[in-house]
Amino acid sequence: MYELVVLSGKGGTGKTSLVGAFSALAQGKVLCDADVDAADLHLLLTPRKILRHDFRAGHKAVIDSQRCTGCGECVERCRFGAVSGRFVVDGLQCEGCGVCVHFCPAGAIDFPENLCGEWYISETRFGPMVHARLGIAEENSGKLVSLVRKEARHMAEDMGLQGILTDGPPGIGCPVIASLGGASAVLIVAEPTVSGLHDLDRVARLARHFQVPVSVCVNKADLHGETARAIEGLCRERGYDFAGHLPFDPAFTRAQVEGKTIIEDDDGPGRRAVTEVWEHLRKSLQGA
Ligand code: SF4
Ligand code: SF4
Repeated sequence: MYELVVLSGKGGTGKTSLVGAFSALAQGKVLCDADVDAADLHLLLTPRKILRHDFRAGHKAVIDSQRCTGCGECVERCRFGAVSGRFVVDGLQCEGCGVCVHFCPAGAIDFPENLCGEWYISETRFGPMVHARLGIAEENSGKLVSLVRKEARHMAEDMGLQGILTDGPPGIGCPVIASLGGASAVLIVAEPTVSGLHDLDRVARLARHFQVPVSVCVNKADLHGETARAIEGLCRERGYDFAGHLPFDPAFTRAQVEGKTIIEDDDGPGRRAVTEVWEHLRKSLQGA
């Protein structure tokens, strides 16, 4: 079974539009939206939720005023200034370190697990999908990425499907690292700009570190042909597989506004180029 993770050096490169298009083209797969900090694959695929689960991670201190004696130990001990003079914990400032819980002489501080978001198993017109919603300002997105990927793998195994298409997070932080381990291949979507070139190289090096084969495609390549060719040259130099150039095509936006993938739109240059990129990837994934 393969897992293709689609990444980008930064947000807004067209990564999700591409995953949406691949969803329409790939046969027998589970879809996984692991871009949990800014999940938006659902806007293209309009999933119907079948199962909903809480996502809990980390802890927050909660003071029980009935048991609190007002000794002030927690205010003194909290390095994050999360406990007010009235002995109330500010949930947004509490880092969940547990120091106040340990030192409270009255045992008045509870330490429940934190509800950070939700994750879902859904049905889409292109097959089953695992996705999530992280609460506002919640952390632990790396843990949620690992969870949705693990569930997508279980689902693909249970259903005897060939693979998983994962919309990964942008950048090179913890959520990206969590999206790489065990993946069969990574596709990095780059923009034809100088920063796009550097961003893609950083992500590609990270993927290499985890021994995940790297493919690259350039989106809106015709907006700056020279840089798009420089990216292709960099791929040759570094030994990254170059999967192709995608043109700027307003059909991507038109399809997005209609809640569709470009594959369901007219047969324009964007659709043709995406299909070629997918065929290129499909062949290498078959050998993965
Ligand atoms: S340490 Fe415990 S008893 Fe003392 S003020 Fe804080 S919550 Fe109340
Ligand atoms: S758990 Fe840590 S951060 Fe949170 S209130 Fe207690 S001491 Fe402060």
